[in-house]
Amino acid sequence: MSQIFRCGLLWNGEEFIPNAALVISHGKVLANTFESSEGETDLGPDSVILPGLINAHIHLDLSFARISPTDNFVLWIQKVLEHRMELSPKTTLEAIRMGIQESLHSGVTSLGDISPNGASWEVLEELGLKGTIYRECLGLTPERVESTLCQWEEWLIHHEPTKSIQAGISPHAPFTTSRKIFEFAAHCGLPVTTHLGETPEEVQFLSHRNGPIGELLLEKGIDPALCHFQSVGEVVQIIAKTHRLGLVHSNYGEIAHALGVGQFRVHCPGTHSYFSRKSHPFDHPKFCPEEWVLATDGRSSNADLNLWSQVKMVAKERPSIAPEALLRMVTVNPARMMGMGKQIGKLLPQMAADFVIGRFNRPVGKEELPTKKIFDEIEEFESVWVNGEAKKANS
Ligand SMILES: [Zn+2]
Repeated sequence: MSQIFRCGLLWNGEEFIPNAALVISHGKVLANTFESSEGETDLGPDSVILPGLINAHIHLDLSFARISPTDNFVLWIQKVLEHRMELSPKTTLEAIRMGIQESLHSGVTSLGDISPNGASWEVLEELGLKGTIYRECLGLTPERVESTLCQWEEWLIHHEPTKSIQAGISPHAPFTTSRKIFEFAAHCGLPVTTHLGETPEEVQFLSHRNGPIGELLLEKGIDPALCHFQSVGEVVQIIAKTHRLGLVHSNYGEIAHALGVGQFRVHCPGTHSYFSRKSHPFDHPKFCPEEWVLATDGRSSNADLNLWSQVKMVAKERPSIAPEALLRMVTVNPARMMGMGKQIGKLLPQMAADFVIGRFNRPVGKEELPTKKIFDEIEEFESVWVNGEAKKANS
């Protein structure tokens, strides 16, 4: 049986269509059409349908973290470590659940979660969302490298991809993770994401093995010389061989400007302002929105997990970015980054019926489409749908 939703404006991931009907059958999109049919649900001429949002960089296990904003990155890392130590396995699962529910409330239907032990897979599955679980790998000492890779492989054996969820790998960052893990990730054939070029401290550490990050490693009894990278660019050279790649932050250092198919950089606006970052990657003369994904990062460096409010913030700050390009940063681009571009991110036939319904202040006219008003007028989505089923009901 099919369901038909008539709306004032549909953005299907490729074009805006006024007065369109979205036809759904068995959890998938069957068609985008103008024709009216008996039994269709008319959402009204002021309604808009967009593909469900995709938050490709989040740390769900940190959803209970409440750490005050700071510009001291190393101090922040220490607070995150302290917070993690306080979490029991049960509380971690509760944090993951809360993070997913908060995401869903803002219109997110797929997630890319960086998970220290992969625990978010089962919760995501139970709550019926889609995404990639990037199990985090880190370690500089040979023993730690060996054990983290063994644990990742063991976890992978028990997590075959489903219709909705797939496994990935996340080497944490070049100052915590050995070159061997990055090389392994680049060749394992799964989606890869890593924090890269986040702070000037990272750039300093990679070049000189000193500064606050060097001091932190020494304090933890780790020899900074175990890091074998000399620059951010050297890390890029290794992982640029992978096809489904997300380089998170990319604020500093030399990041390749010719990324390949399925390779993206990820900007987290909330985290950027949380740390009062000086260098903004969008200011770069070669900035191209098609190479970027917008995400929230974790609650440890963002006030909330509301991806839509992050997009609205960027729309306000960067009016030169076209509305379609901004929407692609939270739909089409993250889907491609995770290698799920044939399944999610657009509302075209055969793709998942994951979508959100929002409302303009007035009916959509025939003349000028209110594409720019999407970010001004839609505060939140009144309903969120996954596989054609309402996950967040009309409010
Ligand atoms: Zn992160």
